[in-house]
Amino acid sequence: MKALRLESWHSAPVLRDVPVPAPRAGEVVVQVGGAGACHSDLHLMRDFSEGQLPWGPPFTLGHENAGWVHAVGDSVHGLEPGEAVAVVGAWGCGSCPRCLAGLETYCDHPERARPPGGGAGLGLDGGMAEFLLVPSSRHLVPLPAGLDPVHAAPLTDAGLTPYHAIRRSREKLAPGSTAVVIGIGGLGHLGVQILRATTAARIVAVDSRASARELAKRCGADLVLEPGEHLAQAVREASDGLAADVVLDFVGSDETLASAVACARQLADITIVGLGGGSFPFSFFNVPYEASIQTTYWGNRGELVEVLDLAARGLLHADVTTFGLEEAPLAYDQLRDGKVNGRAVVVP
Ligand code: NAD
Ligand code: ZN
Ligand code: ZN
Repeated sequence: MKALRLESWHSAPVLRDVPVPAPRAGEVVVQVGGAGACHSDLHLMRDFSEGQLPWGPPFTLGHENAGWVHAVGDSVHGLEPGEAVAVVGAWGCGSCPRCLAGLETYCDHPERARPPGGGAGLGLDGGMAEFLLVPSSRHLVPLPAGLDPVHAAPLTDAGLTPYHAIRRSREKLAPGSTAVVIGIGGLGHLGVQILRATTAARIVAVDSRASARELAKRCGADLVLEPGEHLAQAVREASDGLAADVVLDFVGSDETLASAVACARQLADITIVGLGGGSFPFSFFNVPYEASIQTTYWGNRGELVEVLDLAARGLLHADVTTFGLEEAPLAYDQLRDGKVNGRAVVVP
């Protein structure tokens, strides 16, 4: 089968012929129905070098995956070939307290994971291929009726990551509160919808691209703004002079971090999700009193079940552009050039 391989750091991925995986005991092979092209993959191609992460190339890209059970190994129960599933992409040891709680992103013993590595498309082979080897059935969540793998795939990261970040700040998103979302791409357009569906906050969406601001409106943002000097003032005016209770930064550059802090009020949560490599000087008078600046990474299995349920109930919908596997490099080119609205999904 063909697979889109990242063969070394600082390189563009290439399509290669690889063997179709066969499941051993406990494993499941999923026929990929959709694999999302995440901006983090662009960071993997550009920004990392040997030794920076606990894992590295070569591996097949694609950490946002959904499809159908194709084959199960011995001792896999409760999954039938043909069943539609979403893949939880972070693969830990499976038996430490965090893994047992579904939070395999922060496994206590990643070195005990079988096989060790970050997960699908992150050190281990991901879903930009016809078939994906999943090391345990615990990484699969059945798709609720009415949800297809193409639209479910982005939910496993572009949906799950904002859901986790928003959930952490839920008590700050009470009636009368304001949430600012910076960067309305794959993650941001779902983040706006999740805020709309699960909180009472007024939603201000910020993006430098007009098409992304249009998408933000369709996703339910109350106000859409361009980035720039005027941003903090505009957010204050939109929030009865109070400023933002929660800022979600899906870019993470120097510029957006400065804007995020400038938009925030006392006691705000400023959550950096984007891997833009920016920094901000944190000191007593530099940030609003008792504001928290935090990063978040992905989400947990239980949260993915909730995200899929929101989608099945029509409250969350990934705006998707599809590409064939041969076109996967093009999907990443377009993502890098800011030409993708919502999420590019590779359909092998
Ligand atoms: P994307 O390319 O689909 O979207 C990024 C959006 O940000 C685009 O709409 C772009 O126009 C906008 N943007 C860029 N610079 C801007 C600026 N200065 N001001 C306002 N808007 C700006 O990317 P994505 O796949 O949604 O990922 C977003 C970021 O989140 C990436 O850095 C990615 O690596 C990261 N990410 C983090 C996690 C995590 O768990 N922390 C998970 C997935 C992705
Ligand atoms: Zn991602
Ligand atoms: Zn673990």
